[in-house]
Amino acid sequence: MQVKILGSAAGGGFPQWNCACANCHALRGGQFTGKARLQTQVAVSGDGLSWFLLGASPDLRLQIESARELHPRSGSRSSPISGVVLASADLDHVLGLLLLRELQPFQVWAAAPVIEILRSENSMFAMLNRVDNQVRWNAIRAGEPFHLKSITGKDANICCRTIALSSRYPAYSAGNPSGTRTNSEAVLGLILTSPTGKTLGFFPQLPLLTPELKSLFATLDCLLLDGTFWSDDELIRLQGSGQRAREMGHIPVGGEEGTLRQLAELTKPRKMYIHINNTNPMLNEAGAEHRLVRDSGWELAEDGCQLSL
Ligand SMILES: [Zn+2]
Repeated sequence: MQVKILGSAAGGGFPQWNCACANCHALRGGQFTGKARLQTQVAVSGDGLSWFLLGASPDLRLQIESARELHPRSGSRSSPISGVVLASADLDHVLGLLLLRELQPFQVWAAAPVIEILRSENSMFAMLNRVDNQVRWNAIRAGEPFHLKSITGKDANICCRTIALSSRYPAYSAGNPSGTRTNSEAVLGLILTSPTGKTLGFFPQLPLLTPELKSLFATLDCLLLDGTFWSDDELIRLQGSGQRAREMGHIPVGGEEGTLRQLAELTKPRKMYIHINNTNPMLNEAGAEHRLVRDSGWELAEDGCQLSL
């Protein structure tokens, strides 16, 4: 399985349009030891021909153009992108779907409540179903594995399993009109198994680290984990108000209860932080936080990074 990381920042990207934090300010001024990042986007392929997106970022048009494998190959209209797997209905994870609206057939896999939010509450997503044979929506359930397939049914030899992580839906969602959102599938973790049996974990949002999840992570070959915030009060210290990282559904990286400390025993997988917020001090490659992350055996996912599993 080929894995392409096309974006590694949290919502807003790095730098973020309205942010003058130390990181964004230094990056714009050419004084930053570190890299700009687009919003988190990963693409995977079992055969190098048919590709599947994990989420659909607001930067997707640029990300597709940056990856030759995702360019059209024949005819007047075509795309090697066969489908999109959604881990949540978060805006920075679904807005890119609207950029794929040019009557192109592809599949979407998502939890039933996420499909309902997009298709019933947000009329713009109807652009994905203007004609027959456009987007096919597949409801997935946590714990029930499914195979990624092209719109014509060709199996990509990638098995996907989802883990329910949270019952917290995005702030833009209108509530629970039909009463269907009683489960905890608002946020999913994705486990992809390659044709060779190797496994990739995609957890860009991790609200809780249970013993079961720790055991699961220990079996993976590669883990892409929530690196949104370094500290729980990161935004409050910057802005003087706002939400804590944990209130936003993100365990911070640093500190006593951070993922770096909690997952210190994790040795098997290649460990990469992804979905990194522009305020996170570990983005500064000359800083102590970055050094601590690297010394602990973790990498920061970077735009353009490729893995083979
Ligand atoms: Zn910033």
